Amino acid sequence: MITEIITIGDELITGHTVDTNAALIARYLTDLGFSVRYRTSVGDSLETMEEAFRLALKRARLVITTGGLGPTDDDITRKAIVRLFRRNLIFHQDLLDDIRARFKRRGIEMPAINQNQALVPQGASLFPNKYGSAVGICIAEEGRIFISLPGVPNEAEQILVDEVIPYLRGLQVNKVVKTIKLRTTGIFESKLAELIGHEMKLESGVKLAYLPSYGGVDLRVMATGEDRQEATDKAQRLVRHLEESCGRYIYGREDDTLEGVIGQLLIDNDKTLAVAESCTGGKLGELITSVSGASGYFLGGIIAYANEVKEKQLGVENEILEKHGAVSEPCAVAMAVGCRGLLNADYALSITGVAGPSGGTEEKPVGTTFIGLASAHASYARKFDFGARRDSGRARATYAALEMLRREILDIK
Ligand code: AMP
Ligand code: MG
Repeated sequence: MITEIITIGDELITGHTVDTNAALIARYLTDLGFSVRYRTSVGDSLETMEEAFRLALKRARLVITTGGLGPTDDDITRKAIVRLFRRNLIFHQDLLDDIRARFKRRGIEMPAINQNQALVPQGASLFPNKYGSAVGICIAEEGRIFISLPGVPNEAEQILVDEVIPYLRGLQVNKVVKTIKLRTTGIFESKLAELIGHEMKLESGVKLAYLPSYGGVDLRVMATGEDRQEATDKAQRLVRHLEESCGRYIYGREDDTLEGVIGQLLIDNDKTLAVAESCTGGKLGELITSVSGASGYFLGGIIAYANEVKEKQLGVENEILEKHGAVSEPCAVAMAVGCRGLLNADYALSITGVAGPSGGTEEKPVGTTFIGLASAHASYARKFDFGARRDSGRARATYAALEMLRREILDIK
């Protein structure tokens, strides 16, 4: 069922408020099998709203709006609805009683303007709101469904989850959708596509999306079928192909995180970890300790920003620093080895790089980074180029370090 989401509010189109409602609703509806084809945002203007609603009803069978159901003068969604559907606003005494009771529970006298919220387009059905006074409105007419929800995000979500979704599910108009997200890291999008096969023909009703971010590229498989079994089987067939073609880069699924996966690997193998960070200044330790239970395997780290600290704390030889520089393979190895010994850890990771924007040279341009790893069996470093932007380069370095450790523990060459 083709669907359009319309979010309403001047603050959204000016960028002062980030439109989280549209994303939230789109995610839920997509999972339910609705085809969200358009997302529109409009300001608090009657004309624009009416225009947007009219267009949406032309091109979509389900339209969901949020915002503009409040009691104040700028909340005019109701007005736009009744103009569009040529209906009257009808006063509902029971709604007013509810709203009044809501205020009373909080020990406040209801302001007169809240009476507006008891006005509902004629013939609409209502979705109750647990957290606020603006109820959801639903008009079904000529094969089209038009639903309006309040703008406050937790109210919109509550009505969506408790009321709208059960209602839409009851319509049984969609095929079943199965989505599976595979998480990869250590490989860029186009290379991944090459491994998977550009010209690979997907089964009908199956989609594959590449979703890149600093930490890696997620692969989202989405399969539709007549029933759950068919959708799941189709999705699984593609997942199997992905695992065969690029399995070594896949560290997890769905909500798995690289830091969480590493933590579990260390726990399973009964090993400890320490870090020595230069250009990331503690970001790696921060990421590792964002996992609850990290104390079970993470010992700590040294932020060795100055060469003096690299030398004195980590025991990096002065000769290495003089001859190769702090951003070098020997230095990264020495940092990891020194850190492992100092903190008595099974594994140590080190990061040293030119984070920029200044400080780059011909030989070592901004972004040049060495990541070192030391364990009982090995000590080595790898060279990376994380690009010229300081923030993204540092973020990418932390994920790359964790990925080096994952490959070391799992012996992925
Ligand atoms: P409204 O129902 O239009 O009065 O909106 C109430 C409040 O909800 C606004 O002040 C915004 O902070 C918030 N809000 C409205 N629409 C959205 C949206 N699409 N995404 C996130 N927040 C929103
Ligand atoms: Mg508003």
